[in-house]
Parts: sequence; C-alpha cells; structure tokens
Amino acid sequence: MITLHDVYEQGNDTVRAAVLAFGARHLTILDDGPDWKQAEKHFTSVVETIMGSSAPPPPGSTEGPVRRAENAAIGFLLAANSQPNYRCPICVKQRRPPP
Ligand SMILES: [Zn+2]
Repeated sequence: MITLHDVYEQGNDTVRAAVLAFGARHLTILDDGPDWKQAEKHFTSVVETIMGSSAPPPPGSTEGPVRRAENAAIGFLLAANSQPNYRCPICVKQRRPPP
C-alpha cells in the first residue's frame, strides 16, 4: 500500500504541500516539528477506511481497489488542505469526546 512518503515523492507541488500540511497536523509532544510516524499511520488508516467503504468499481475499470483507495486518499489530502485549520479525521476519531 502507498505511504505518505510515496505520495510526497510521486506528487507534484500541490500534492507535496498537502502532504506537508497533513504532517503539520501531527506535531510531536515537544512541538519540534511534524510527527511523521503518526502522520503515516493515520494516512494508512484513511486509505483503509476508504477501501472499506468505497463502492464496487465501475464496469470496465482497470484500477484495483487499492489503487482507487490510494487515489481517493490523495484526493482527500488535497481537499482537506483547501480548508484552513482542518483536523485529521483519524485524530478526531481517536480523541474522546468531551464529557
Ligand atoms: Zn491524525
């Protein structure tokens, strides 16, 4: 499965900016930069979530479900990056709601 690092390596400037912004949503406890381990984990979770919820491929599609989920995940990064101060959905899910 594709990693956040692969997305960065293969992406154009817009994609790279979106990857960096996603990383910036995952700061280390010391607040000394992005926690890329965490960001990678959450990107994988996003891809898995999309794979688990996506509709079956249209007839004649040559793309496998993994490839389609990866493209959708990149689309997610780009869409999220167009929102100011968006939060990673996996982080939001893992954080307990306030009592
Ligand atoms: Zn996250």
